[in-house]
Amino acid sequence: MDRIYIKRLEVFAKHGVFPEENVLGQKFLISAVLHTDVRAAGKTDDLKKSIHYGEVSHMMKEYLEGHTFALLERAVETLAEKMLLEIPGLWEVELELEKPWAPIGLPLETVSVAIRRGWHRAYIALGSNMGQREEYLKMAVDRIGQIRGCQVERVSSFLSTAPYGGVEQDDFLNGCMQIRTLLTPRELLDALQGIEREAGRERKVHWGPRTLDLDIIFYDREVVDEEDLQIPHIEMQKRDFVLLPLREIAPYLRHPVTGKTVSEMAEELTQHYVM
Ligand code: ATP
Ligand code: CA
Ligand code: CA
Repeated sequence: MDRIYIKRLEVFAKHGVFPEENVLGQKFLISAVLHTDVRAAGKTDDLKKSIHYGEVSHMMKEYLEGHTFALLERAVETLAEKMLLEIPGLWEVELELEKPWAPIGLPLETVSVAIRRGWHRAYIALGSNMGQREEYLKMAVDRIGQIRGCQVERVSSFLSTAPYGGVEQDDFLNGCMQIRTLLTPRELLDALQGIEREAGRERKVHWGPRTLDLDIIFYDREVVDEEDLQIPHIEMQKRDFVLLPLREIAPYLRHPVTGKTVSEMAEELTQHYVM
């Protein structure tokens, strides 16, 4: 992706852990790398097709001067989030905040904190087999869209399927959705579990009846293999109730480990049934 650089913009702000710093203020320097596609602007000479670095510079200055944080970490974290939420076409941002007069009692040129943050694309499988199944799935879609830093991009139709895993229970209603998110995989899992709890989910029997089940299927092309979180979801290629709705919204998406597309995985599973 192309980049726009803003280097060492000077601002006067009051961030610091010492109370004097929060009163007197001092000089800070903010640098940003904006990851965006400038091809259209390059072809047309139209500023509206790019990101206005003047406006972004003012936004950063006003934000850093208008808030007081103890830590540089907090200042750049919240500023990066604001920029990603408010600047159209910004997919990723790198920020570095320098504090050249940091009061540590030693001569140094500068100290700084640098971060890189951006949008990620994730796919979530939804399932319910208790009570008002469709209401639970619709509620989940709405609630996910309301999480700060989550935007719903596509939602599949909902599909009724027989239960999986050998526990005697009612049929499931399943669907899949594509979102854009600023959350990390673990933050996303926590947020989804919060929504499951809100839907009255109780974990009694593994693979047993539930009002709402929200699983992360893919998160970019990332592979996570921790004890309580595996991405891509470990069973996805064996489940028609995941693959069929997912195929509706992302047929060409590839599994980052096996390299197979969602369409291919769905195809293989149906052939398996026939044999
Ligand atoms: P399955 O994961 O086989 O579909 P389940 O959805 O019924 O089974 P749950 O009781 O909902 O299982 O979740 C058990 C645990 O699975 C969760 O507490 C979570 O830590 C873990 N987990 C691991 N990987 C994922 C993932 N990709 N998405 C959601 N939960 C996951
Ligand atoms: Ca599940
Ligand atoms: Ca689950």
